[in-house]
Amino acid sequence: MNKKTLKDLNVKGKRVLVRCDFNVPFDENNNITDDTRITSSLPTITYLLNSGASLILMSHLGRPKGEANPKYSLLPVSKRLSELLDKEVIFSDCDIVVDENVKKSAQSLMPGDVMLLQNTRYRKEEEKNGEDFAKDLASLGEIYVNDAFGTAHRAHASNAGICKHLPSAVGFLVEKEIEVMGNALQNPKRPLTAILGGAKVSDKIAVIENLLNIADNILIGGGMTYTFLKAMGYSIGTSLLEEEKQDLAKSLIEKAKNKNVSLILPVDTVVAKEFKNDTEFFVTDADKMPEGFMGLDIGDKTIELFKEVIKKSSTIIWNGPLGVFEMDNFAKGTNAIAQSIAENTNAVSIIGGGDSAAAVEKIGLGDKITHISTGGGASLEFLEGKILPGIDAVDDK
Ligand code: AMP
Repeated sequence: MNKKTLKDLNVKGKRVLVRCDFNVPFDENNNITDDTRITSSLPTITYLLNSGASLILMSHLGRPKGEANPKYSLLPVSKRLSELLDKEVIFSDCDIVVDENVKKSAQSLMPGDVMLLQNTRYRKEEEKNGEDFAKDLASLGEIYVNDAFGTAHRAHASNAGICKHLPSAVGFLVEKEIEVMGNALQNPKRPLTAILGGAKVSDKIAVIENLLNIADNILIGGGMTYTFLKAMGYSIGTSLLEEEKQDLAKSLIEKAKNKNVSLILPVDTVVAKEFKNDTEFFVTDADKMPEGFMGLDIGDKTIELFKEVIKKSSTIIWNGPLGVFEMDNFAKGTNAIAQSIAENTNAVSIIGGGDSAAAVEKIGLGDKITHISTGGGASLEFLEGKILPGIDAVDDK
């Protein structure tokens, strides 16, 4: 890792601005339903506090589209953080995030104090990486730390722009993300198996292309399966199809052969009459899908086939559910694969954020996985081999 980390900083007596990812989900009564993103930021926060810094934390929350909106206020996050830290968190409830009062409050912070700014996306310039907003934010502190992996694939004022104005480093969370995923891509223990699911081929093309240069095995599941099967000349009934991506699917299969990568498609599939949990469904071989039915999960033979490959792998990267796991009748494949990854405790296992992470947590296997990424989109772009602008902007060692 060539980026500066917390250990490269001397923060004693300094005001440190920390970009966190506090973009947590809420229920209809405005209660936080999952505070993982807040708890994940605690190692960085407590390390900086114990090192004698005062902290100005910032984050986005949802999509307030560049204006103040109480629905997206970070106040509930501030309260939860205060409970977790067992100390006061000064919440700066400013509609434009930074004004003269906020600047004064920041100036008066003492070592050990924690202040949380209002949602950075209350300002239009945030997502445009606006120079004035980046300067406003930077004026509050003396050092900048980026610990928000979830937004690292976007160049925004609070992660990219701000780095121009302050010495910077990555926090523990971002450091772990890029170290574990970077190692898996650059220097993996082999065999390296990538399991790719999710809805669409179009969202995963770049990942498949990149992993074709790196992985030993690529296991395909989820909605994109059927575009591949159709491209191979099979009938797929009413399954999800990206008509115009069939040629591409064919070329990916061809490339895999040429590169000696074993690209494995489902050999059987659960088909359903309708896209809902309570409907007629059964398992059929992938080349015998009946008319009027849609594929919503991988079948039992495929589960066994995938499990055999997973068992023999030393590095496993998983991104995207293998079926419509939100519906119990079509969650079997996703759960079985999650279980099998968790059982291979000798392997380095990495799960991209979003749905696959939710699937492992739901069945209580999160702690058996080497690394669950905190950023769905960001981890996907990382696996695509792209440079993440939010990390690129941070000072090199
Ligand atoms: P993604 O965001 O691309 O990872 O896709 C996740 C979504 O893919 C989930 O909501 C799944 O329900 C959906 N999905 C998985 N398998 C299928 C399938 N066979 N047909 C339709 N949608 C699927």
